[in-house]
Amino acid sequence: MASSFSTKLRIAYNVVFAPGFFDAMAGRFAFVPSLVSLPTAAPAESGTTFADLRGALHNHSTYSDGLSDIPTIMDAGAEAGVDFVLLADHNTMEPLRDGWQERYAESSPFLLVGTEVTVNNGRFLLALDVPPEYEPEKEVSAQSGIDAIRAHGGFPLISLPFDMKHPFDDWSVSGYDGLEVLNFSTTARRHINFLSLPIIVYLQKTQGIAAVIRWMATRPDAAIARWDSLTRGGKRQVVGIGSLDAHAQMKMFGRKYPIPTYTDSFRACQTHVLIDVGITGAARIAAVNAALRAGRCYFSYDCLGDPTGFTFAATNIASGAVVPMGERLAAHGGEKVRFAASATKACGEKVLLRLYKDGKPVASSVGGTLEVTVSGDAGAYRIEAFLFAGRVGAFFYGVRPWVYSNPVYVSEISR
Ligand SMILES: [Zn+2]
Repeated sequence: MASSFSTKLRIAYNVVFAPGFFDAMAGRFAFVPSLVSLPTAAPAESGTTFADLRGALHNHSTYSDGLSDIPTIMDAGAEAGVDFVLLADHNTMEPLRDGWQERYAESSPFLLVGTEVTVNNGRFLLALDVPPEYEPEKEVSAQSGIDAIRAHGGFPLISLPFDMKHPFDDWSVSGYDGLEVLNFSTTARRHINFLSLPIIVYLQKTQGIAAVIRWMATRPDAAIARWDSLTRGGKRQVVGIGSLDAHAQMKMFGRKYPIPTYTDSFRACQTHVLIDVGITGAARIAAVNAALRAGRCYFSYDCLGDPTGFTFAATNIASGAVVPMGERLAAHGGEKVRFAASATKACGEKVLLRLYKDGKPVASSVGGTLEVTVSGDAGAYRIEAFLFAGRVGAFFYGVRPWVYSNPVYVSEISR
């Protein structure tokens, strides 16, 4: 696709003013005044216990513009240690019709086939859990694209919301259920600038591509702000996912380079999906689709540490109702709600957990667990976990963005 003049301008701005570089530097520090509480001694409450499946989302094969065929991609998934791979080739459900999802249904990793739909002259939607007969109509309006996915019983998400090359630009649309809050290709593109490139070349030469990927891991501020604005007040549920957009080839300055490999990409960031314990074999496919639709998932920079086992749940103290991330909790005005989150012990004590209500931090904790009881006002409550190198009082340094939960949506009900 030929770059439009506005795309070229955006790329030039990115190269010269290097916003990605300054994101990366500023993100290494955090000031968290007065919010820091001691971690609770008891493990955080999680409601039901789920199986935590690691998913590599939004990948391209030779069915569109990816480098490799599906068996090669699945081998890369096994090497990277993910539980499932979600394919999203451009504007086609042919891989599903060709039986690839079925072929890998009993395997580890298993395969889910969705598609990436081109709308509005180069903007993108993801269509998940759509039937084999669905064939997207290209270049229609974003609204028509969303309506068509829904008409086929699918799950439409807005993809690449704040990408440098393909930013989504029609926020007046309705009927979509999710947002690709983190797209690693978008993140990587922000690092194509004159300040980041020398660091990338140095890291690549001395420590390899994994170090480059870790260095690039930054908080997707603009997409998170959009997500918070969509869910503000807790009325509307919008599922957030983190994906890779892996092609195993990077276009730069008119040439294609075979980097990063699928395996390297899969290790960068994952969406962890929570399904009922004991589901095995082909039944995992429907369970993962149901959990994604329910927002029972979190996404994370797994390249910085394995968060498998992360939990976030809310309890209405009066009614005793407990819900996990993604779900809705009813509370009468003024009733107390307890929010509990727990990050894995694997990352030790250097974990900062922050609870956000409608995008504003309301409580923080260090040490890997957070438990706080607040007045359950209507809103979208979600957790961000950060790793940090050190702390002097309220000042944290060596901070890295790590885990993003889906929100618990609190709605006030009248007595
Ligand atoms: Zn893509």
